[in-house]
Amino acid sequence: MRYKRLKAGQTDVVHKDVPVSGRDSTGRGSVCAADDAPVAQLDRAPDYGSGGLGFESLRAYSFLWAGTEMKPHEAGMALALKEAEKACSRDEVPVGAVVMHEGKVIGRGFNQVETLQDPTAHAEMIALSAAASTLRSWRLDGCSLYVTLEPCAMCAGAIVLARIPLLIFAAPDPKAGACGSLRNLLQDHRLNHRVDIVTGIMESQSTMMLKSFFRELRMKNRSQDICQGSGLPD
Ligand SMILES: [Zn+2]
Repeated sequence: MRYKRLKAGQTDVVHKDVPVSGRDSTGRGSVCAADDAPVAQLDRAPDYGSGGLGFESLRAYSFLWAGTEMKPHEAGMALALKEAEKACSRDEVPVGAVVMHEGKVIGRGFNQVETLQDPTAHAEMIALSAAASTLRSWRLDGCSLYVTLEPCAMCAGAIVLARIPLLIFAAPDPKAGACGSLRNLLQDHRLNHRVDIVTGIMESQSTMMLKSFFRELRMKNRSQDICQGSGLPD
């Protein structure tokens, strides 16, 4: 598979796969149990490190998706898509994110803006907070962030502040994307940190999930309007 890779200072260059392991080899920090994370973080990321796949190895997971072996970026994105599915099942816009460090998931999150009634509860923010708790450090130097949708301005700002070196996202967001669509905060030379970007990994899966979510939402709203208009009970 070929996909776009935007290196800081370059635009729209097409590269072949780059193994994640080469990026996540700083040896910084150590993985701790979710029990050690601050309570507030656990509130914001209720599924982090509990049940499910837990701190799964990216290498191990790469053999599980659809019974076929995947490259590291696809394997990471598959985990982010699983997070997006959780959002979808809670009637949230399906966006998911995972932070990888040395081949392991150290933070995960899915969009919970409606559930928490918190405008900052985007998948990326929750995953970054969880990863910082795991490493006990706000600096996420050796980490890669996988997101199913191009991050917005708020999340792009947080990515820069966290010193994430590599962002991989699936689908572009032409209405709110701040990593190349509306603007590119991650590669602004006026800032003190720049981020490499890889796009288009499992883009069709993410786009399909988003499209079907909004299609169902529109249908739900339409049928509610019809019920209200006809005087029928909800
Ligand atoms: Zn965001």
